Amino acid sequence: MKIIAPKAMLARLWMVLALTGIVSGLLIGYRVIGRQSVTVSAGRQSFSTVVIDPGHGGFDGGASAQDGTLEKTINLQIALAVRDCLDAMGVRTVMTRTQDSGTNDADVSGLHEKKVSDLKNRLALMHKEQNRIFVSIHQNHFSQAEYYGTQVFYSGNHPDSKVLAECIRACVVTDLQPENRRESKRSGAEIYLLHQAKVPAVMVECGFLSNAAETAKLKSEPYQKQLAFLIALGILDYLQAEEQQNGF
Ligand SMILES: [Zn+2]
Repeated sequence: MKIIAPKAMLARLWMVLALTGIVSGLLIGYRVIGRQSVTVSAGRQSFSTVVIDPGHGGFDGGASAQDGTLEKTINLQIALAVRDCLDAMGVRTVMTRTQDSGTNDADVSGLHEKKVSDLKNRLALMHKEQNRIFVSIHQNHFSQAEYYGTQVFYSGNHPDSKVLAECIRACVVTDLQPENRRESKRSGAEIYLLHQAKVPAVMVECGFLSNAAETAKLKSEPYQKQLAFLIALGILDYLQAEEQQNGF
């Protein structure tokens, strides 16, 4: 899909967001215009579909905050907002789930078997077409409550995974978390989907559910929309750099 030029696109995007009411939580405004330049790896195909993966769901709640908030719920809310932003930008999206359900096969029983089936189906969706990039949305949790802030993990299997991670990190840090010093990090085998990915793939750990103040932010709709908008802009930065590289 052809992606329109940055300034025209952003003007159109703001119009669309204003019309749909999404703009209410996006107070960061035009600071996002004219950000960093991005270099992608040369000499390969164009990626045009973003697979958005809200982590966990259904039988699998993921991490939980002290107030009982489940990771799966926040993941889905932010992922749906990312989808809305990308749709408004004219970027094709596919969701691994749009409601509180796992993606496991219906005939599988047992917690471990369900989890294995769930992850395999997400992986299959990631690779269903060759032109996909994969963005998984999760929340972090740590034994010490003081840690907070977004961190992006990337797959080591495709050179553009790191580029995509950096685009997202830069947008979030610049416009929402200027004090955040967390570097993007290459994942190992511990993150199955990134370890198995053959396309550009990242996991955005939006914040820490072990931190009460950050949990409160992550639960608020305006903050979710700000974060989602910046994640979407990071994805767009990557896609535009890739289009320019490939001469589209
Ligand atoms: Zn998770």
